[in-house]
Amino acid sequence: MHITRISAYQVDLPLHEGSYNWSGGKSVSVFDSTLVRIDTDEGVTGWGEVCPLGPFYLPAYGQGVRAGIQELGPHLLGLDPTRLGPLNHRMDAALKGHPYVKSPIDMACWDLLGKVTGQPVVELLGGRFGDDVHLYRAISQESPEAMAGKVAGYRAEGYRRFQLKVGGTVEEDIRRIHAVAAELEESDILIADANTGWLRHEAARVVRAVADVDVYIEQPCEGYEACLSVRRHHTDHPFVLDESVDGLDMLLRAHADHAMDVVNIKISKFGGLTKALQARDLCASLGTAMTLEDSWGGDVTTAAIAALAHSTPPELLFTATDFNSYVTVSTAEGAPQRENGRMAASTAPGLGIEPRMDVLGDPVLVVE
Ligand code: MG
Repeated sequence: MHITRISAYQVDLPLHEGSYNWSGGKSVSVFDSTLVRIDTDEGVTGWGEVCPLGPFYLPAYGQGVRAGIQELGPHLLGLDPTRLGPLNHRMDAALKGHPYVKSPIDMACWDLLGKVTGQPVVELLGGRFGDDVHLYRAISQESPEAMAGKVAGYRAEGYRRFQLKVGGTVEEDIRRIHAVAAELEESDILIADANTGWLRHEAARVVRAVADVDVYIEQPCEGYEACLSVRRHHTDHPFVLDESVDGLDMLLRAHADHAMDVVNIKISKFGGLTKALQARDLCASLGTAMTLEDSWGGDVTTAAIAALAHSTPPELLFTATDFNSYVTVSTAEGAPQRENGRMAASTAPGLGIEPRMDVLGDPVLVVE
């Protein structure tokens, strides 16, 4: 079997809540997602998706996905898509870096491998644990009162883990954490994600002011050294690293430095399911808990997250994300649907999704 064509479809994903806001005034109201279709000489087709969190979260942006696929695609024609090792080797040889460009291609090849072997991707990634996985709900940055006011509705949807978007002013972030914490029940989990938005002195003030609150602190500052400094000198809160950990080298370094208690592994930040799987399994061996997700996405991304999360030992899965419930557009049938704050990976071969071609329209890019 070999790849005969790679096509990219651009889809706008608006949000049910109108906009998603996080540190430093960053905000997105319509996400620019790219679905990738890989066709083969045997007529089997695979699908992947990547959706950057706007152009100012990670070094990634929507148009960059398409430009990257235009560049990389010709190097992949003729390869066997079910051989993920040689495929990733070729991608890395043909294009330095740009993990987010490679991610939907790798994801589509896992979908193809599943279809060819008759196996759900969750089984190919190690096999499912239990019935389903629990999800967290991100609470977009607003006033402390507005954020606290969202908790009851999300709890009614079954969520028990809440990730506050902080990284605003010190005073307001302190009030955000206290206001939301006051709404929680005993077994709920609270995470304050500053998304690199604090300087070290600001992080120091926030963590001191919430010293009595049971809250996780996620990626307080820009840069690994700054986060490590906050961790070592200012707080004993449980600590999550995200933006600073984008590969196995940083994962090993952070582990050796005792720099984190939980790590956030995003599929496209690592470059696809193949590399996210390496990171997941390394963390499992090291005993490091994980949030497994992506930057953003719709139905296809959510299906891939479900496959990765559901094949992770439950005690090491801190949480995962159902992005398809945040957006108003469904791009595929068969994607996991949140049920009482939880979701399950598909039992159908591959990712178990069937794209809605009426939603996708014509490809914006075809390499053949
Ligand atoms: Mg984060």
